[in-house]
Amino acid sequence: MYRWTSKDSKVENSTEKELECVRCGTCKALCPTYSESGNESMSPRGRLMLMNMLQQEDDATPAAIDRIFSCMLCGSCDSTCPLGVDVTSRIYQARSELACSDKKLRALGLFAKYALRYTSLAFPIMRLMQKTGALRLLSRTGLTGIIDEMGIEFASKTLREDGTLYKTGRQKGRIALFAGCTINYIYPQIGRQLIKTLTALGYDVVIPSAEVCCGAPLLSLGMKKEAALKAEQNIRAFGRLRVEAVISLCPTCTDFLKNTYMELIGECIQNAMDFSEFVSANSLAGSLTSSSAYKNKKIMFHDPCHSLYKLKIKKEPREILAGTGIKLTEPRQSGCCGLAGAFRVLYKDMSESMLNQRKLDYDDADTIITSCPNCIIQLRTKLKDKEIRHIAEMLLPNNT
Ligand code: SF4
Ligand code: SF4
Repeated sequence: MYRWTSKDSKVENSTEKELECVRCGTCKALCPTYSESGNESMSPRGRLMLMNMLQQEDDATPAAIDRIFSCMLCGSCDSTCPLGVDVTSRIYQARSELACSDKKLRALGLFAKYALRYTSLAFPIMRLMQKTGALRLLSRTGLTGIIDEMGIEFASKTLREDGTLYKTGRQKGRIALFAGCTINYIYPQIGRQLIKTLTALGYDVVIPSAEVCCGAPLLSLGMKKEAALKAEQNIRAFGRLRVEAVISLCPTCTDFLKNTYMELIGECIQNAMDFSEFVSANSLAGSLTSSSAYKNKKIMFHDPCHSLYKLKIKKEPREILAGTGIKLTEPRQSGCCGLAGAFRVLYKDMSESMLNQRKLDYDDADTIITSCPNCIIQLRTKLKDKEIRHIAEMLLPNNT
């Protein structure tokens, strides 16, 4: 249950202490929108104050809606607040109450609702439209412009079209792969490499055909009911599988399967995990290597926000990569890539500014490794002279 209290509801499943923000401002330190704008109302503390005020109002002003929807839902405030105030849960709830108040948000929500309800139809249609140039026409409506503008190319064959079960002769265990939309429709080669690696390590891999979008894009647009439906569908698809782990290649998906579903529908996929978490938990690092082509390169690791702040993963990928002979150099500073789903569409200037900062931070690197396919999309739009890779593409089984 959400901890947010609306004027019509009581506090649920929470304690007064958790709800109380003492306005210390600690959470501002890592908030990307506050760093960008220097505006208190774009900080977690400012947004909390605004949400408290909105509970007393009948109508939200466009400026108030803007402050709630400009949050990137990165989670750094939740992880830094000394009192454990769950800012992002409140933002999600406020969005679900405000989503219908703005024309552009309604249009985006409608597009996301139908595109993600019928993904197996919507993505091939968009791929066809991209090939024929028709997508460019639709882009003028502002809904799909991001696809062209970011150079996103839909894959000619999705990961799920390859097959749903990969068996190995020497079964060490069984893994389910949550492909997610970006891996399935845009970067299936990352999923293919992961399957190769897992099967070489002795794991059978299953990709349930009933998998649907994790629901994160819907919840971020305030569509709580639709996101809950996705959660129920994925719990049905993965919940009954006898597998050691459900590995996802996107930290936002992993966080949703593992944590947010519990808040949304009271059930979750407890064994959902990031690939590097799985490698560490099963002491598989010694069975992995990396291509010798990367041994003398200057390589940096980009931490996706949901990996750092929601899944609390930082040292695992670094230790695993170091074990394969990849020497990582830490950037001068680090931070969000600036994508955050609809944020890139609605707040393009701020998104670009964050990306420009990352370009400076990673200037000395030849290669950037990350664990999020959406960060890859964003980083590739600006860091064109760098090789940007997913960690699952870098870690190869020892015998290859
Ligand atoms: S949310 Fe937490 S860290 Fe931020 S101002 Fe309130 S009490 Fe302080
Ligand atoms: S989730 Fe991120 S962007 Fe939103 S208020 Fe918290 S720190 Fe700022």
